[in-house]
Amino acid sequence: MNTLSSSSVGENAILVINCGSSSVKFSLIQPETGLALLSGLAECLLTEQAKIKIKLNNEQYKETLPSPFDHQAALTVLVKHLHQFNLVNSISAVGHRVVHGGEKYAEPALISEDVESAIESLAKLAPLHNPANLIGIKACQKAFSDLSQVAIFDTAFHQTMPAKAFLYGLPYELYKEHGVRRYGFHGTSHYFVAKQAAQQLNKPLSQCNLISAHLGNGCSVTAIKNGESVDTSLGMTPVEGLMMGTRSGDVDAGIIFHLVEQLGYSVNDVDQLLNKKSGLLGVSQLSNDCRTLEEAMLNGDTQAELALTVFCYRIAKYIASFSASLTELDGLIFTGGIGENSSWVRAKVVEQLALLNFHLSEEENQKARFGKSGNIAASNSRNCWVIATNEEWVIAEQTHNLLSSTQPIKTEV
Ligand code: ADP
Repeated sequence: MNTLSSSSVGENAILVINCGSSSVKFSLIQPETGLALLSGLAECLLTEQAKIKIKLNNEQYKETLPSPFDHQAALTVLVKHLHQFNLVNSISAVGHRVVHGGEKYAEPALISEDVESAIESLAKLAPLHNPANLIGIKACQKAFSDLSQVAIFDTAFHQTMPAKAFLYGLPYELYKEHGVRRYGFHGTSHYFVAKQAAQQLNKPLSQCNLISAHLGNGCSVTAIKNGESVDTSLGMTPVEGLMMGTRSGDVDAGIIFHLVEQLGYSVNDVDQLLNKKSGLLGVSQLSNDCRTLEEAMLNGDTQAELALTVFCYRIAKYIASFSASLTELDGLIFTGGIGENSSWVRAKVVEQLALLNFHLSEEENQKARFGKSGNIAASNSRNCWVIATNEEWVIAEQTHNLLSSTQPIKTEV
């Protein structure tokens, strides 16, 4: 049996849980170093194909989940394995990724009944995500009843945005009475890469001015002034801004009336169209996956090339627009699956940013792939980094910090 001894692991590892509607991603992280002792994914939940994969010491364990195939079943199997791997005693707390914290949470929160109610009431702003996050919280409370649980909100980092950036040009009462405003997402990722860039610059984050581009299946660009988010491309929901894998990003709102009134779309049809059928998938008519599209483009598929070209132009346009949010700029950061791996996308984006004095070193750009970070700027350019994001580490670190400052980490049953 593959085990790690508690003495080698220590006793303050954080179990990080990211619960989606049909999946649970988990990892056990040492908060000081970010080392993942164990990681895995339960997917296809609520179907008979529900399964769990757990990685420990480069070995992978796979198992189908028992009925009722739900989040609780996944966590029960995880706990069984944590016992078998001799890791249960090393867990000091559980940190949960929670997508929407609204205006209420600019910081991590120790989960209490009040916090749970707030997450529930914020579900009206994130109907697909917050209920799933709550299911994870409740399942973990059952599975780890003696451990403190902490919520880390994806929106929190963006709570520093000024009103000029977060307000839409809509009647003000929609904001005051119904919370209609820009919140932004991917906050833990933008924060993590900004901190890493600050290390590269050898100055405190509070003195850094950056633009970060998180390019994965979901995509966003954030302007960071003196270490704080001052604008971001995702909005009240994760459809605004850049073109994404299957999401449209910005469209003329009038298109929605046209779809409904002239083409007979229902509200649900529009929702599906903008969230699931647009973006790289919609334009290429082939795939939402950047790798597949790059391969197709190299084989002469002009529609794939068009999709990637629109995608990159939108990114460059957003980055350039954020020069209005900053008075200084220390550099640009690429992160997320595409940002970390696609030298083609990075080159195409930066090619359109020459006016802002960004130019890439072709050699460094080619080298920075598959987990290899680095500064890919040419010698006559502003800094341009590829930085692998690590949201799990932020969640572990912030969970650990919150509990260290408020109470003993482990409570006795
Ligand atoms: P998520 O938002 O689901 O976390 P990721 O950050 O993992 O997504 O990013 C997924 C995207 O990264 C996909 O479009 C995938 O094709 C792209 N990607 C991963 N590796 C490469 C690569 N080597 N070259 C180009 N794109 C890549």
